[in-house]
Amino acid sequence: MRRRIIAANWKMNKNYQQGLELASEVIQIVADEVNGNAEVVLAVPFIHLQAVTRLAASNSRIAVAAQNCSTETEGAYTGETSAGQIASTGARYVLVGHSERREYFNEDGVVLMRKIEQTLQASMAPIFCCGEPLSIRDQGQENKFVASQLNDVLSTYPKADLHRLVLAYEPIWAIGTGRTATAAQAQAMHAHIRTVLTDLFGENAAQLIPILYGGSVKASNAVELFAQPDIDGGLVGGASLQSREFANICKA
Ligand code: PEP
Repeated sequence: MRRRIIAANWKMNKNYQQGLELASEVIQIVADEVNGNAEVVLAVPFIHLQAVTRLAASNSRIAVAAQNCSTETEGAYTGETSAGQIASTGARYVLVGHSERREYFNEDGVVLMRKIEQTLQASMAPIFCCGEPLSIRDQGQENKFVASQLNDVLSTYPKADLHRLVLAYEPIWAIGTGRTATAAQAQAMHAHIRTVLTDLFGENAAQLIPILYGGSVKASNAVELFAQPDIDGGLVGGASLQSREFANICKA
């Protein structure tokens, strides 16, 4: 049985007070209404890490993630936040390789590999994101593109830490656009990702790695997406900023 995870990505939204309000609402609704054993992860801005971790401490199904970490461990890197600092707040996950980080901050395979190493060294779990732009899908090259994103970064991933690895497939053309991949498109890519993981780590390990789908997930499309055999949950941006909508996705 693979773990099921619904992760909220707040991106650079919510000031401190608004973040506390949203987290409190989500934690309350999840506790009251969401059955099952899916884990709920809140990927919040750095300013919220500690407070949200404290709020979530009452519910073992809710964990907190950072949206990024430094490639460095400590020292003179003004403005950076290390994985060790993140872990000291009680956060358990770090998003690595979100398409917005790749695009706006030029994060390439070497940088992402280093961020994964830092995350693991700090005893946290990486949620490693991959996904193709529309131009690549239009050329029918999406499988090759995503395979190379995975091979570039995961070929040195330590086998002893595979139980911590989570993947998220997010086609860039579906992020924040309101245009979701169809359940069939998403399932086909998730199955492909699992074959890449099988080549990298072997069948048994690949079968246990959760692969989340991200890209305009809403309560109205979540049921169909999450029913696919290789989709193990979601990474949710815009819809995670409304507690009721996000809770309904968790229910799905
Ligand atoms: C995301 O940012 O990871 C994301 C999937 O955003 P949205 O749900 O808004 O498309």
